[in-house]
Amino acid sequence: MLSNRVSSITPSYTIGISSKVSEMKASGIHVLDLSIGEPDFNVPYDAKYSGINSLNKNLTKYNMVPGLKILRDEICNKLLNENNCNYYTDEIVVSSGAKHCITNTLLALTNPEDEILLPKPYWVSYPEIIKLVNAKPIFIDSKKENNFKITPNDLIPYITPKTKVLILNNPSNPTGAIYTKEELISIVDFCIKNSIYILADEIYEKICFDNNFVSVASISESAKDITITVNGFSKSVAMTGLRLGYSASNKTIAKAISTIQGHLTSHPSLTAQYIGYGALKNCSNDINIMVKEYKSRRDLICDKINSIPYIDYIYPNGAFYVFIDLSSISKKFNFEESFSIKFCDRLLKEYSVAVVPGIAFGMDNYIRISFACSDNIFLEGLNKLNQFISDIMD
Ligand code: PMP
Ligand code: GLU
Repeated sequence: MLSNRVSSITPSYTIGISSKVSEMKASGIHVLDLSIGEPDFNVPYDAKYSGINSLNKNLTKYNMVPGLKILRDEICNKLLNENNCNYYTDEIVVSSGAKHCITNTLLALTNPEDEILLPKPYWVSYPEIIKLVNAKPIFIDSKKENNFKITPNDLIPYITPKTKVLILNNPSNPTGAIYTKEELISIVDFCIKNSIYILADEIYEKICFDNNFVSVASISESAKDITITVNGFSKSVAMTGLRLGYSASNKTIAKAISTIQGHLTSHPSLTAQYIGYGALKNCSNDINIMVKEYKSRRDLICDKINSIPYIDYIYPNGAFYVFIDLSSISKKFNFEESFSIKFCDRLLKEYSVAVVPGIAFGMDNYIRISFACSDNIFLEGLNKLNQFISDIMD
């Protein structure tokens, strides 16, 4: 009865676990939730005020498909001042979250069966969005020694005449790894030579602990021309439920994205757009405070993980996740299939700690923990993880 399209995709693990946690909490169970990547901060006051003000002025009618002009102008200012990228207003399309931007972009760029290069580990929704638009995910392996950051050499074996787009998530969910400028230059050169677009998902750009973030589109004019930068407000200003993101690309692609959006949603909620506008205009101090807090959590969580035996992890330079390698443990279970799901199910059922199985990111020997929650929660959660590991290993 249903389409082949829908039968080829799986529901989101991250959203699924989060719903399970909510059910457990509703039935009175105390769950330590280290699963979803959702900031535990509130939307800053000045951003909210901008939305409330717009409602009081009855700014609630249909508006421009690619987004409010004042918001797109402000996004251009931000891209110029913070990312060193010079965009015009008509090169920006504002959508209902970064997920929506990614879907619009792939709808605009791909034909059925076109191949999208997807480095592993990948954020959970990329392969499913790729399949939804009838394109084909091509999974790219890379080296743990390089924090799973890809190099052109990793891409070479996968290039075919159907290769259309590379998805580059920087900083990475789930590893927190950040590409250096030199690494980006080599990837950009390779993509230009092979006529491959880069979808640069930079949604964690603000959550970067050493001030070393470089936007792909800032590398050169030709880099900018092949790059569709995706960003959003969910992580930087905790606007997860308000659903707001944007893409920046060349005019032709932006126009195509806007045409698609015009038929699907028209434009994102106007109130959310005013809140986003307020966030860009007035909330850089609030953002700095949140990032400082994430950094101190990163230091604390890594110290704690260092004391847990049998596990290893990728040291996160950005975002709010730790990607933990459980190979020494799964070895004891003969690397059984769906190991990470079984591990996480037991951790949740027996120890009331929620984390995301690595299989959601294409790596079954891993789990991901999020530190977008208070110190108390992740420290207690890690104590229980330690207990679980010693129960199954010792
Ligand atoms: N990209 C990455 C890498 C993410 O982790 C997420 C999760 N929020 C998104 C995109 C989607 O974000 P949004 O809430 O803006 O749709
Ligand atoms: N991106 C976040 C995560 O990976 C939020 C959930 C989602 O949209 O997948 O946990």
